[in-house]
Amino acid sequence: MSATKILLPDHELPTHWYNVVPDLPSAPAPYLGGDGEPVSAEQMGAIFPPGILEQEMSSERWIAIPEAVREALALWRPTPLYRARRLEERLGTPAQIWFKYEGVSPAGSHKPNSAVPQAWYNHVAGVRRLATETGAGQWGSSLALAGQLFGLDVRVFMVRVSYEQKPFRRSMMELWGSEVIPSPSELTEAGRRALTEDPDNPGSLGLAISEAVEEAAGRSDTNYALGSVLNHVLLHQTVIGQETKRQLALAGVQPDTVFAPCGGGCNVGGMMFPFVADKAAGSRVRLVACEPASCPTLTRGRYTYDWGDSIGLTPMMKMYTLGHDFMPPGIHAGGLRYHGDSPLVSQLVHEGVIEAVALPQLETFRAGQLIAQTTGIIPAPESAHAAAAAVAEAERCREQGTEKTLLFTLSGHGHFDMAAYDRYLAGELEDFEYSQAAVDAALGRLPHADGR
Ligand SMILES: *Cc1c(COP(=O)(O)O)cnc(C)c1O
Repeated sequence: MSATKILLPDHELPTHWYNVVPDLPSAPAPYLGGDGEPVSAEQMGAIFPPGILEQEMSSERWIAIPEAVREALALWRPTPLYRARRLEERLGTPAQIWFKYEGVSPAGSHKPNSAVPQAWYNHVAGVRRLATETGAGQWGSSLALAGQLFGLDVRVFMVRVSYEQKPFRRSMMELWGSEVIPSPSELTEAGRRALTEDPDNPGSLGLAISEAVEEAAGRSDTNYALGSVLNHVLLHQTVIGQETKRQLALAGVQPDTVFAPCGGGCNVGGMMFPFVADKAAGSRVRLVACEPASCPTLTRGRYTYDWGDSIGLTPMMKMYTLGHDFMPPGIHAGGLRYHGDSPLVSQLVHEGVIEAVALPQLETFRAGQLIAQTTGIIPAPESAHAAAAAVAEAERCREQGTEKTLLFTLSGHGHFDMAAYDRYLAGELEDFEYSQAAVDAALGRLPHADGR
């Protein structure tokens, strides 16, 4: 019997995180403050602990994972690598399709890979309390779990539409001991302002970030934790790509194309950065970030300085952006509805090392169903974006008779997304294209990086 899944023992959990910065074609652009000057570590120290700040600014290629963090990650890592044989057969493709499954974590996605070290570095710095935001609930539940593991109180600002649509994500966070507040809320200036303008404001990730950052900046006992976008988060996620490379080596295969869903870019970075060094050394592997057509940051946004939140409380970062006040249409892949993208991923896309594609919602749900029927795993709608791109490539391989090896990240399970699958099965889902007029209008409101 040839392999269906490749498992690694606990002791093969990576000992170091891989930092892509020294292997980038050019130095990363600095984060800028409101005055147009680079932000100092001291300023960021108001909301982040020293261990995290050091990683955020580091240009060391390898950073040791503390033993306490490895021990906590070992609750579910190393995660399995699967070969999707029934999917290959169903598609009648000569391609091999492999996927790394991150849905085995307790919270159900890759996000605890960074929640655990972020909670730990805050714990060792003596911080007792964290504020954060969550869109679909994946990051909030990951930080709730990690807070519980290291004895920190966690307050989660949850985008109001998700709070109402996904009550069980909220239950999960509360069970792990966190407090969950629908955003916009009356607890912060940013929230109150949004509610005055529109009492029925459904919330957005950018606005929930504003609320959490405002709270962390205003309370000395509270720090902030972000689930994606920033360099240290992508660094923490590189356990994914490192394990995958080891597993592929055990299976004796090398990927031709790697796909990962892209919201803020952390699982893209986590899977792909360990392959970026190989590309610099001559490997021809293609790396493809997969985003929704309704939130086309990498494919239709602009590569420029913008804020990470909706009202400008965060530093400005050079990244692909649709404009900080972008309000995404109500698609179901909530974890992909963010106006910006990781500066590191953006830079690699800009430099042509990573490619990007945008997928319409219906195609992603079709792929999600295909994965569910052929592997048994019900993917999160976010993950289904990478699956859909891999399926499309496998179909091209069938038409062209090419035997490629395809790999994708199945970043999480969809057990809390069944209402969305119900709507898909009932024929009620639509494709949303984000109009060029809306893109142009939002880009017209970008901040001036020179501080004007
Ligand atoms: C949050 C999330 C994503 C997107 O976030 P990235 O930072 O782009 O990785 C993708 N898949 C799942 C399951 C998620 O929870």
